[in-house]
Amino acid sequence: MVKLVIDAGHGGKDSGAVGATGLNEKVPNLKIALRCGEILSSQGISVEYTRTEDKYITLTERANIANNYNADYFISIHNNSFSDSSASGTETYAYKSGGEGETMARAILNSVVSAIGTKNRGVKYANFAVLRQTLMPATLVEICFISNPDEEARLKDDGFIETVSLAIAKGFLSFIGQDYQEPAPQEPETPDSQEPQAPEPGNRQELLKNYQEALEAFRRLQEKLNQLGELLK
Ligand SMILES: [Zn+2]
Repeated sequence: MVKLVIDAGHGGKDSGAVGATGLNEKVPNLKIALRCGEILSSQGISVEYTRTEDKYITLTERANIANNYNADYFISIHNNSFSDSSASGTETYAYKSGGEGETMARAILNSVVSAIGTKNRGVKYANFAVLRQTLMPATLVEICFISNPDEEARLKDDGFIETVSLAIAKGFLSFIGQDYQEPAPQEPETPDSQEPQAPEPGNRQELLKNYQEALEAFRRLQEKLNQLGELLK
């Protein structure tokens, strides 16, 4: 079973970047991390989190959680910020080029950009502690710019959170070569769904025909038995 640690960036006293209308980056980071983990768990991935609530943890603690869990992969969820509020788009990070971390970063980047239609800012490389101290391939995702008012507004929307979470999950699955399995459709809950159903008109005619054929066969068998009975007298 593939083991993945998902890291919701920031938390507790560390709010992360703050949007134009005051959205704290730590909030959408956690929502997306948890939902993405839920989706991947439903796909058979063994998921662990660095945090599941609004609490502060250091970068080294985050890496240690992944290392102690013996995770195969590590994904850190963040949102970007820049002094110029017109900056926008999605980028992902790997520790260095050429490794599995980069391949994973690219798969997630492409999946997210095509799902939410943001500007593709590419895969970048950075000496981030969570990428450096984790012993497994690791990627950091900067979904969009919380400093951009339009992108901040999207981050407040539950539908957007769902779309992004699914896109990250699908990007990860494509990276490990696993197909995404659509969840089974829910059974419609109609009040009389438990009642025995009358046969459909077409079905009923078919049943009647089968009944008549069986009856005819039974009559012929009975006739034959009578004839045999006569012979044995
Ligand atoms: Zn961040």
